[in-house]
Amino acid sequence: MVEAAGSAGFSVVAYRNFDTDERYFVLQYRTTSMSNCELLNRKISNGDYSTAMPRVVVCNQRISYCPVCGRRLSKYFTKNLEAFDGLVDTHLPYV
Ligand SMILES: [Zn+2]
Repeated sequence: MVEAAGSAGFSVVAYRNFDTDERYFVLQYRTTSMSNCELLNRKISNGDYSTAMPRVVVCNQRISYCPVCGRRLSKYFTKNLEAFDGLVDTHLPYV
């Protein structure tokens, strides 16, 4: 699900609070993909209102356990901080 970040539907997003240095995963739901939102924003800035604007809703829920196997997620990233932080950088546009 981490590969689906920014897509329409459910995904899992890696998050790091740089003020507190707290890291965690967020279960995210989007009605419209980020790429579709960006495309529509470009069209509108160019004065093209031909495409109906979808209602864009994004819901985020912090999760502590894997929704598939129930494993505690902090075990994953405390052992692989470098890999997790790489994921945080990749997911930054979706938070
Ligand atoms: Zn799992």
